[in-house]
Amino acid sequence: MAITRGSDLGLVGVGKWPLWGRPALSVWYVLVVDLAAVALTAAEFTRPGLEEAPPGVAVAILAAAAVQVEASRRIERARRIKNGSVRVNMISMWVFGAVLTLPLAWVAVVTVLLSAHDVLRSGHGQRSFPHRKVMNAAAMVLAAWTARLVLDAGGVPVLAKATQLAAVPIVVVAVAALVFFAVDCALIAVSLLVDDERQRSVAGLFGSADDNALELATICLGAVIGLVLVYQPIALVFLFVPLFVLHRGVLVTQFKELATKDQKTGLLNAATWREVAARELTTADTAGVLMVDLDHFKRVNDTHGHLAGDEVLKAVAATVRRSVRDYDSVGRFGGEEFVVLLPGLTSADVLAIAERIRRAVADLRVPLSGTVLSTLSASIGVATYPSSAAGIDELVHAADTALYRAKRGGRNRVVSSLTVCDTRTG
Ligand code: GH3
Ligand code: MG
Ligand code: MG
Repeated sequence: MAITRGSDLGLVGVGKWPLWGRPALSVWYVLVVDLAAVALTAAEFTRPGLEEAPPGVAVAILAAAAVQVEASRRIERARRIKNGSVRVNMISMWVFGAVLTLPLAWVAVVTVLLSAHDVLRSGHGQRSFPHRKVMNAAAMVLAAWTARLVLDAGGVPVLAKATQLAAVPIVVVAVAALVFFAVDCALIAVSLLVDDERQRSVAGLFGSADDNALELATICLGAVIGLVLVYQPIALVFLFVPLFVLHRGVLVTQFKELATKDQKTGLLNAATWREVAARELTTADTAGVLMVDLDHFKRVNDTHGHLAGDEVLKAVAATVRRSVRDYDSVGRFGGEEFVVLLPGLTSADVLAIAERIRRAVADLRVPLSGTVLSTLSASIGVATYPSSAAGIDELVHAADTALYRAKRGGRNRVVSSLTVCDTRTG
């Protein structure tokens, strides 16, 4: 069975990558960009003089980046959930710092290591598209290469190799930063353009103005990091303070998050779930929508009281959340109904996950005052994208209709909007 849990890195099994099912132009584009980055890196490794750059600078960049990424993980995650941007991390800051200070071969190594760290440590919803992660790293390597061309032309040496540190022409560094930003941006935008049959908006291709401003700001910080590292590495500590404050600013997003969550269960509220799911659908090839409704929940309230009912709702919400991957979106649709979006899965996998949730609810034991509730069950309606419907509202409607069939069929079962049969085991 091809269902994997949140720990799935997704970078293994290249043959199974969804890339191969994308339009031919998209596949070629990704391959050309990836291979260009690999070829360039390989060529850079054969250049003489690599050993002249002390490894200490590369190690310092990686260490500082690791500290910053780890410190800002929660904030980054909140940003991702909330804004779904095309560019969502601060790797470019460290990569541009590396462009100024290190030979390109080491810049490529730093880029790959930071990207791998980002994939491993973030719960990013695009894990089902590992080729995009690789492509992002390759685009950054190519952007770094063009920025280095500008620096070379403007007389800015690889700073870690320079034996005599003269004043660096800041205009050249600024142009290199702009070129780095523009090339990276253009490579990603073209990849989205050739990948998508649907028309994307300009913001959909290039990201929002806010995201681009943040990206430019981080590259500027990268320039400062590069200079500080070479002239006075210890002064990096001064950078951590503004970075921390900047992130505190981004924390405002977390307060917004309060408005996006269902307070009782901690799941997304219905409006936010719809927003997130609609956005996920614009990048997913396939997806499943589950509508989960507790059976005879009114009896629980009638027998044990509404406060106990709330405890049961929390336990069920946690069970549904645990039964799916980190990057699947789970929301409380209302009352005792939950909705789940499962991007990147086939209908067979979606049905299997629905069945897993049904069993998990049936197996659930909720301790209530003086007793343990063990008679819970849920009915689940399943719709799949694109076979059941194309839009999020239509998918929810299809899942809801299937849910009613599950109720009519006797409850405690999974029914797909696509089939006439349903499942029930145990
Ligand atoms: P069915 O199998 O047909 O779904 O039966 P049901 O009893 O689950 O469905 P019905 O729609 O008749 O009742 C839903 C119940 O869920 C009624 C309502 O009191 C309860 N409910 C909705 N929201 C909450 C909540 O936040 N807390 C508690 N404790 N109960 C809730
Ligand atoms: Mg209901
Ligand atoms: Mg119900």
